Amino acid sequence: MIRVAINGYGTIGKRVADAVREQPDMEVVGVAKTSPNFEAVRAVEKGYDLYAAIEDRAGKFADADIETAGLVDELVAQSDVVVDATPSGIGAENKAMYDEYETPALYQGGESADVADVSFNARSNYDKARGADHVRVVSCNTTGLSRLLAPLDEEYGVEKARVTLVRRGGDPSQTGRGPINDILPNPITLPSHHGPDVKTIFPEIDIDTLGLKVPATLMHMHSVNVTLETAPDADEVLDLLEGESRIFCIPPEFDIDGTGQLKEYAKDLGRPRGDIWENALWSESITMEGNDFYCFQAIHQESDVVSENVDAIRAVTGSADAEESVQTTNDALGI
Ligand code: NAD
Repeated sequence: MIRVAINGYGTIGKRVADAVREQPDMEVVGVAKTSPNFEAVRAVEKGYDLYAAIEDRAGKFADADIETAGLVDELVAQSDVVVDATPSGIGAENKAMYDEYETPALYQGGESADVADVSFNARSNYDKARGADHVRVVSCNTTGLSRLLAPLDEEYGVEKARVTLVRRGGDPSQTGRGPINDILPNPITLPSHHGPDVKTIFPEIDIDTLGLKVPATLMHMHSVNVTLETAPDADEVLDLLEGESRIFCIPPEFDIDGTGQLKEYAKDLGRPRGDIWENALWSESITMEGNDFYCFQAIHQESDVVSENVDAIRAVTGSADAEESVQTTNDALGI
């Protein structure tokens, strides 16, 4: 069993913990949090050993009658891998601790790429992370783009990708985020950081990205145009994408008109927290105009990186090859 620590038990961390627990070859040693709140209470109720992430604040858990198992250092020391799911920038600060205990670490997409030896997407570059000590699982949007570009590039060759990302203003629980009533070019200058981030996975790909922020919380939406090196017809591309386990090609008969109905579908499926681990791509939007491929895909920002973290754990520990890992993860989660 691979012994996994989760440092940072928020939106991403709690989902990764639950996903790791579902794997036949992994166990959660414990989770670390900075301060008590409902997520800390639930972590203990769910049977996770809870560690205090910051020594000075450890007493707050006792004050709130929440039992802790120790400090984060002890958690890191006894784990084979640590998944750092702390807010952007904190992962880089934690790196020295992971090095001190010689525990390989996974970071999230909010960290800058240079925190890690390799940026990771299971579909695109699993092998690059094999045996690495510091791996960054790329952001939700970069994960979604990588899953789409990998098969297109392998099958047809990508000459140029242009993507407009309509981004949710914040996650549903991020009460302080916005905009509330606006449409923001974000950033106003081009490219948005997503294009360069995709290049950490595909250094050779020519991609321009534009970002917008809108008053929505459920998901991101990508409006995609990829100029291919050949001109397959749309049905052929649909067949290709339907063969990708982490792309859900929404069948026309589902009559799903947007992200609200997608989330409703995920809840009907009984998915934990209504999560959608796959890219959700509208089959009917797949269009070919000469060499130009077009589509719309929605990305569930809170969950699409979860399966990637699980695969990255197997990559750094060298315990499975890409195909085996993705299959195991998918089977355990129900992807
Ligand atoms: P979050 O704020 O929901 O959770 C972070 C957790 O870490 C919180 O519980 C916070 O209390 C805790 N924390 C803060 N400082 C800490 C410390 N020093 N040690 C341990 N824990 C600490 O954030 P999130 O949305 O889960 O994001 C985490 C990372 O994942 C970021 O890099 C983010 O960019 C990335 N990410 C987020 C999303 C998303 O949509 N939420 C999607 C993909 C990637």
